Amino acid sequence: MKKKIEEKKWADILAEISTNVTEVSYRTWFAPLFPLEIDEDAAVIYVASSNDFLIEVLKNRYISVFERAVETVYGKKYKIIIKNKTEEEIERAIKGNEIKEAPIKKEHEEEFREEYFLNPRYNFDNFIVGNNNNYAHAVALAVAESPAEVYNPLFIHGGSGLGKTHLMHAIGHYILEHNPSKKVLYVSSEMFTSELIKALQDGKNKNAKMRAFNNKYRNVDVLLIDDIQFIEGKDATQTEFFHTFNTLYDFKKQIVISSDRHPSKLTDLDERLRSRFQWNIVADIQPPDFETRVAILRNKTEQEKVEIDDDVLEVIDLIAEKVKFNIRELESALTRIISYSKIFNEKITVKFARKNLNDIFSTSDFNITCESIKKEVCKKYNIKISDMESAKRKREFSYPRQIAMYLCRELTDSSLPKIGESFGGRDHTTVLHAYEKISNEIKVNSVLADEIKQLKTDIQ
Ligand code: ADP
Ligand code: MG
Repeated sequence: MKKKIEEKKWADILAEISTNVTEVSYRTWFAPLFPLEIDEDAAVIYVASSNDFLIEVLKNRYISVFERAVETVYGKKYKIIIKNKTEEEIERAIKGNEIKEAPIKKEHEEEFREEYFLNPRYNFDNFIVGNNNNYAHAVALAVAESPAEVYNPLFIHGGSGLGKTHLMHAIGHYILEHNPSKKVLYVSSEMFTSELIKALQDGKNKNAKMRAFNNKYRNVDVLLIDDIQFIEGKDATQTEFFHTFNTLYDFKKQIVISSDRHPSKLTDLDERLRSRFQWNIVADIQPPDFETRVAILRNKTEQEKVEIDDDVLEVIDLIAEKVKFNIRELESALTRIISYSKIFNEKITVKFARKNLNDIFSTSDFNITCESIKKEVCKKYNIKISDMESAKRKREFSYPRQIAMYLCRELTDSSLPKIGESFGGRDHTTVLHAYEKISNEIKVNSVLADEIKQLKTDIQ
């Protein structure tokens, strides 16, 4: 049977959660939740929010924290169901059940709320600094440490997927963590535009709506406005943003702007804005170099709690070699391979990665054949292909042969019988035996392991 969640219990749950997450996370994700009902027999707790994004983040990132808190308070495990309800439905639920709002007041509520949320994954701690972004990182951190005191406005530009949004959220988190009373507002320029249009369109309530709009944007301590290039060519938005900018600037509030281009390249933008954007620091982010790409992938691998062995390191190098210009794609290749390995319950190896990431490995990469492997191995051990394919059993031939068989299994999709065939018509059990022998030997013989690694690179 369902009954309402006791107020005291709900307060205990929230208190428990608040000791386990940062204050910002607590205020952002948990405080706005509404407790609905509890079904003790079915062990289910129902809570509600009217915000899709919040629900998604809770489900993806925080459900275990939530469950643990409930378990602590009720002394048994409950399943948590977060319902999506409109504000009115929640109102009604509150009235009907006399459920009180969460004890902590929501900020930036009502009129516009969603985009206040900062993605908890984007912070300074997990932002990898390399030659490509060290300047942008340094000035962003300086701004986070002393908002409106050092660099105002801060303008960050760079290509898609290079970490602009990440840095902006990091600034927001940092400021809120060190000074929770500051009002931080993150918004994309598209959202800014669409809210403005909504306000302007509302015939009857236009004035009230515009007041709310202005209040929202002009009463913040820090405005983080992302992807400003979208206001190019939109005159009304530019005018409105011009006033917002001036108000904030005059009142010594921090403004951080991002764009896919240098301000001077925003040709379809009001000159007054273009020059304001360059009043202080303009920092760019370049594509990361190889070392930085590897560092980003390793960091991500650790975050995903994947054990980093030699195979994984090899896969990381391989992905870092292939994806050069977009960190979002770089990460997505890695996360895909991690989740495939979980789904298929297979180890992450170069072979597995090549098979499953065929979009990033061009067809030429698939041209690894038993023939090319044999050629490379013969070259290395200085024997003839005919000897490798022959029945000769001397170690100087059999050893390279086994290595080549091992590599065929690792690097191609050929079946065991097929591989056997290309080694002078050998049986598939011979191939399997060779594969296992070399696999085992690699584990104890580091010289061989290095040789194989080198061979793989040469072949690829
Ligand atoms: P942009 O806004 O420039 O298009 P994002 O900030 O959305 O790019 O970054 C894309 C992805 O790459 C995000 O998941 C982000 O966390 C990650 N990322 C970007 N730069 C870095 C970095 N230096 N260290 C770690 N992750 C990064
Ligand atoms: Mg972005």
